[in-house]
Amino acid sequence: MAMIGFIGLGNMGGPMMRNLLKAGHKVRAFDLSETAKKAATEAGATVVDKAADTAEGADVVVSMLPAGEHVKSVYLGEAGVMARAPKGCLFIDSSTIDVASAREVAAAALANGQLMVDAPVSGGVGGAEAGTLTFMVGGSDDSFAKALPILEAMGKNIVHAGGAGNGQAAKICNNMLLGISMIGTCEAFALAEKLGLDAQKLFDISSKSSGQNWSMTSYCPVPGPVPTSPANRDYQPGFAAAMMLKDLKLAVEAASKAGASVPLGSQASQLYALFAGSGHAGTDFSGIINMLRGAK
Ligand code: NAD
Repeated sequence: MAMIGFIGLGNMGGPMMRNLLKAGHKVRAFDLSETAKKAATEAGATVVDKAADTAEGADVVVSMLPAGEHVKSVYLGEAGVMARAPKGCLFIDSSTIDVASAREVAAAALANGQLMVDAPVSGGVGGAEAGTLTFMVGGSDDSFAKALPILEAMGKNIVHAGGAGNGQAAKICNNMLLGISMIGTCEAFALAEKLGLDAQKLFDISSKSSGQNWSMTSYCPVPGPVPTSPANRDYQPGFAAAMMLKDLKLAVEAASKAGASVPLGSQASQLYALFAGSGHAGTDFSGIINMLRGAK
């Protein structure tokens, strides 16, 4: 069993850390929030005073933080995790962050005689609690092999996407496609309404035709056709519009740096900014159908 440091015990990190404890690992945990620290103590972790203290004697340090700036501030610098962690220690950053920051911290770890993977997730809080997350992993073969048994305690599908930063690249490419396909699906259902075509009829036809896609068949943005979709519970998330906006911004930023053209990704980002900014940041991302209908 490994000695694991865990930094960032929020909605995702809290339950992920608990699954590591359940698997028999010892965990030294840190968060800025007192509530999160108290919950970690109750779950059986040893809570420490500073982020870098989690790295003391650690085999592995896992982080689950809001953005690239938090990841850099925690790992880098004289008082950071890398300076405190033993040589050969493996860092697993599961936060969703920009590709450039992920590659920067991985290079710093390598230069310091340590290993690092970026391992962002999909599956949400439900997946974090159930230990069924999908991990998209970027890093060397050695780092991936060492990370695998740890990730298996927190997730079900673990995919090696290539070198450092490629986990983040996979995550934002997938979520950009999801944002675009959701808006397209919403437009089709909104147009059908105006044309007097019943939503269930459109679903029956399109779900078996060339318009078929996940946003329609697993997460339908109108109530009825897919009983489990957030449309059936007044667009309670699910996956909040604010989270979709975060991922789209990361995709557009990465595209700009890489010289890639993403006109529909940019448009989707603008539309989600409008939707989230008009009081719907906490609404499920499929609720954008109401904005496209012209409803409040
Ligand atoms: P959250 O806000 O609930 O948790 C983040 C935690 O990090 C908070 O408890 C905060 O106090 C802590 N934190 C911030 N700065 C810190 C620092 N310097 N040191 C220690 N702790 C610090 O967010 P979340 O929903 O758990 O998401 C975490 C990451 O996972 C994000 O990058 C998010 O994009 C990604 N993600 C979230 C979901 C989801 O459904 N919530 C799904 C996939 C990916």
